Amino acid sequence: MAPTTRDPIQRRGLMLILSSPSGAGKTTLTRDLLQDSSLDLTLSISVTTRQRRTSEVDGIHYYFKPKAEFDRLRTQDDLLEYAEVHGNFYGTPRGPVEQVLSQGRDMLFDIDYQGTQQVQKRAPHDVVTIFILPPSMRELRARLERRAEDAPEVIAKRLVAARNEITRWPIYDYVIVNEDIQTALAEVKSILIAERLKRARSAEGITRFVEMLLTEG
Ligand code: 5GP
Repeated sequence: MAPTTRDPIQRRGLMLILSSPSGAGKTTLTRDLLQDSSLDLTLSISVTTRQRRTSEVDGIHYYFKPKAEFDRLRTQDDLLEYAEVHGNFYGTPRGPVEQVLSQGRDMLFDIDYQGTQQVQKRAPHDVVTIFILPPSMRELRARLERRAEDAPEVIAKRLVAARNEITRWPIYDYVIVNEDIQTALAEVKSILIAERLKRARSAEGITRFVEMLLTEG
């Protein structure tokens, strides 16, 4: 008789990178993805030399570090990637990523196009990249102003940077226009679910499963 339950097919963990200009809705998407426990995503918490915003908590949003400490991590090769963004340094600690991936689980990254390129080069088969675009520049500006956490000159700087960042879309596997957050969220989840099922991520597990299938009476 066929078994009624089976072990899940083992697969390699993947790195899901979300990038966008600030104000395109990536923070909300990231939060919603992490809240959905059925997705079992772990957020990569970056190290940064940027000043902490009042709403941010050290160790939750970022690890806030002085430049000397950041440089120490970089020279020790403790960072999977790093980049200078808007005059501050940001980097991804390597240890937690390796730990999560080795368990066959997936890591979520909120990093810019420079970091994305570095990870794509280091682990081309294990990375899935999504770029989030705002529906219009007017909406992007409105979202930045509504956030009201940054000074007007910072917002102006971010709008200029956004124009540059938007031109980086061709390096990404998927591009989503975030007109409606629920639609964008559903689109990201669909991408994740499909990418998890790619044959190459679980070839060994499928081989074992098929062997078992074929030994059945
Ligand atoms: P913010 O200062 O608004 O939190 O982030 C500014 C930009 O830095 C965002 O586009 C964000 O994706 C990017 N960023 C955050 N952490 C990292 C990181 O570890 N590496 C890279 N390359 N970019 C990061």
